[in-house]
Amino acid sequence: MTPSDSNRRRIPSIDTLMRQTESYSIPRLIRKRLIQDRIQQWRDSGEVPPEQDLNDIIENDLNRFLQNRLQTVINGTGIVLHTNLGRAPLPQDLADHLSNTALAYSNLEFDLASGKRGKRGLNVEKSLAVLAEAEAATVVNNCAAALVLMLNTCRTDSRDEVIVSRSELVQIGGGFRIPEILETAGVKLKEVGTTNRTTLKDYAKAAGNRTALILKVHQSNFYMDGFVETPPVDALVQLAVKNEIPFGFDLGSGALIDTRTCFGIEPEPTPASIIAQGAHMVCFSGDKLMGGPQAGVIAGSTSWIGKLKLNPFFRALRADKLVLSALEYTVTQHLQSLDDPESRTTPDLPAYHLLSQTINHLQARAEAMVRRAELPKEVLRIEETEAEVGGGTMPKTRLPSVALTFCPSGIKPERIAQYFRENNPPIVGYLRNNALQINLRTILSNQESIVIDCLKKAWEHFEGFKQSKS
Ligand SMILES: *Cc1c(COP(=O)(O)O)cnc(C)c1O
Repeated sequence: MTPSDSNRRRIPSIDTLMRQTESYSIPRLIRKRLIQDRIQQWRDSGEVPPEQDLNDIIENDLNRFLQNRLQTVINGTGIVLHTNLGRAPLPQDLADHLSNTALAYSNLEFDLASGKRGKRGLNVEKSLAVLAEAEAATVVNNCAAALVLMLNTCRTDSRDEVIVSRSELVQIGGGFRIPEILETAGVKLKEVGTTNRTTLKDYAKAAGNRTALILKVHQSNFYMDGFVETPPVDALVQLAVKNEIPFGFDLGSGALIDTRTCFGIEPEPTPASIIAQGAHMVCFSGDKLMGGPQAGVIAGSTSWIGKLKLNPFFRALRADKLVLSALEYTVTQHLQSLDDPESRTTPDLPAYHLLSQTINHLQARAEAMVRRAELPKEVLRIEETEAEVGGGTMPKTRLPSVALTFCPSGIKPERIAQYFRENNPPIVGYLRNNALQINLRTILSNQESIVIDCLKKAWEHFEGFKQSKS
């Protein structure tokens, strides 16, 4: 018998492990699969941990499964549209609106006037067109899908090239790279210009009878300064029109309000401003600066939006009723904030509330929280810091912010961060200068008590830990 064989004899039976883990609120079949997977791994490798560790390992597997379920997380990162944390939080009224749609049948594709089959999303499409000041608009699953649909619809057998500046061949987030998206959509990339400078002449030289689209892509999460040049949108539109090809712009974040006047932060091109310059199509995300659910909006001319909707891909990328319902609510908030042209209000949506908090307001919130936590001064401090818009938008902008800094002495900061992540609901902060920081700009006001309770509990926990060591 080899050592591995004798190791394998120590592996408990599935039945034993199932009985020992009965208290877990995980469906039996999943519990069984997780246990089987772990046992299989021990059998295959022949490396079986010591007997006393086996239960802990199984329980750790089950706990990991529970932890990975989609759950509320408190965002203490100061990144407002945090892609890993679900981007824009949605308001209670929207959740009520959603539950109405979810709990019963709806007129999703039913025309109440005629009693016949109707079209999906008519109302939200009209509202989006109004908001983008375009002839028409439609919705798909996300902005990446919107771009694929746009590219694929422009393509024909004789015209399969898409012109993009080398300065705009960007990667956004995990797996979104413009050249790869083009390839997936079945078009050929025609790169023009250089990394820092692309002129109108570069575009003009490339535009020909194989061109399907001139595409501009928002650089999103990075910016260039110095010896840079890119032709203005209206000049590109003129070039496109002269060559009888469409011009499209992937805006990414899709700021629908003037970010400079509303927040004093860097300007973003609005869909309406690009449409006004003659673009045939623009696309943008629903959950970035729009502050709504994950969706991709395409706005543009009636004829191009019509073509997009006839593409079989459109059916594969369409948004579901809950998303349409959430988007309808979000667009209405944007339109309502424009009702009074005199007063410059921002949409009544959480992302906008978070972005527009003043530093004084954040400071006051921090002071109230510190008072309520009643921890020693050296353990919990208020520090001035910065926050970001996130979601790959406005990389230059730093919003002033305030953080709670928690630093019980003698404890590894990674341990502290982990303790907060194991809270229910988890609190995600970041480490700075060997302490945990919780940035208040992204903490919703109804989450303050949870943060305070966790701070108190953490301090007791780590104090107790220190005393037990000494
Ligand atoms: C974020 C972004 C996308 C992807 O948007 P999703 O809605 O996440 O699919 C596409 N293009 C640009 C320019 C972006 O900034």
